[in-house]
Amino acid sequence: MAAEVTAIVSSPLSAIETFESTHVKTPWAEAQAQFDRTAGMLDLEPGTRALLRSPLRELRVLVPVRMDDGTTQVFEGIRVQHNDARGPFKGGIRFHPSADADDVRALAMLMTWKCAVLDLPLGGAKGAIVCDPRALTRGEQERLCRGWVRQMARSLGPTIDVPAPDMMTSAQHMLWMLDEFERIHGAKAPAFITGKPVGLGGSEGRAEATGYGVVTVLLDALKSIGLVPSAARASIQGFGNVAQHAARRFVGAGGTVIAVASWDPVSRQGYTYRKPGGINPDELRALTDRFGTIDRAAAARRGYDVLPGSAWLEQEVDLLIPAALEQQITLNNAPRIHGRVRMVVEAANGPTTADAARLLEERGVVIVPDIIANAGGVTCSYFEQVQGQANYYWDRADVLAKLEARMTAAFADVQDRASRDQVSLRDAASLIAVERVARACRERGWV
Ligand code: NAD
Repeated sequence: MAAEVTAIVSSPLSAIETFESTHVKTPWAEAQAQFDRTAGMLDLEPGTRALLRSPLRELRVLVPVRMDDGTTQVFEGIRVQHNDARGPFKGGIRFHPSADADDVRALAMLMTWKCAVLDLPLGGAKGAIVCDPRALTRGEQERLCRGWVRQMARSLGPTIDVPAPDMMTSAQHMLWMLDEFERIHGAKAPAFITGKPVGLGGSEGRAEATGYGVVTVLLDALKSIGLVPSAARASIQGFGNVAQHAARRFVGAGGTVIAVASWDPVSRQGYTYRKPGGINPDELRALTDRFGTIDRAAAARRGYDVLPGSAWLEQEVDLLIPAALEQQITLNNAPRIHGRVRMVVEAANGPTTADAARLLEERGVVIVPDIIANAGGVTCSYFEQVQGQANYYWDRADVLAKLEARMTAAFADVQDRASRDQVSLRDAASLIAVERVARACRERGWV
């Protein structure tokens, strides 16, 4: 007998129907404003502007999940497919209790630009399921992943839309999603999803690819301001997948990370963990759970200063690396950034608002934009798809060498464009990306 439906998890995704101009400072409004600015600089024709400033398609699904106690809980999911003129939609799926439709739209648009600036033959999408995986058992998480694929199967596929992990989703989640997709289609389809476990269709190097790529770009950007890694001190927001690998590679290259911030879901607050002499990323990782939450008591015992969540931003460092959430550096807190800071490397998606970026740039701070800084993940996801389609897998050194080459070349293009057009790196990356996508739309005859 079917269990009683006990709850529909209410969520901000319901805002999808009501969103228009009420939330002027959402990440979506920020993403559209950057697009408008770029479209103006490129003098894009009105039809192309209208096509690119909104997603081609948005899907909202309800996923009923049988819970371990026999009840059914209904979770809300969304997939935003922004543009696929250059290839299949590509983008992560995040689990988050306060996932928001506007955020997903912004992230989907960013994926389109990110794939384009890296010159990957892919479009842009993003997805979210409103849930807190910490509150779900392993079995419930598996049923949620499988249920989401059943609801979405007709809109996903290796040549249609290829999901990947994002916040609070893991290789295991991707494998359950793959398995369900293959059951539905009765055939193996390793290129359906990326971020799978190595040995089961995953790529060597994928786990560290985003953080690794952040540091590839960061080291090149340091050269441009004449700072050697051994003289560079950094403060990082976040200590999850991206930040851990970025910190480890940056320290390996001779840099010093003096502070890291992470979120504590129990007290519902962020905390900054500081060691003025420099943290050891491997030691800190041992005190961190798989969601990127640092054990506060254990860190204090190991001699870390435990400071408020916002303190990461106020440290006397050369580099800030926001690697947690959107809109963390704003006009409100940018004036608190220390005068020593010379660069912000956007490891997270959309962590700096446009106003704050302008303020910092006026102060001479270089902003390395998200669409190039954190593109290592999607680049390696593309490699994973290529390997899956060929059923031939490369070794880690090969993957990282190919990643390094792609990221270095793409960042050099962005730097060249910035100096040629006398614009910021953010505008240069956006100009390259929008130009490529607009050209694909025109050449396909869409506009
Ligand atoms: P994650 O879930 O592994 O880690 C997120 C980290 O941020 C955790 O340490 C968490 O404690 C911390 N955090 C969250 N809210 C915070 C707050 N208010 N204050 C301080 N710390 C906070 O996520 P991730 O995969 O490392 O992704 C981080 C960012 O990078 C996101 O913006 C994501 O979209 C982006 N990104 C990730 C990838 C990838 O491959 N994982 C690729 C491109 C971009």
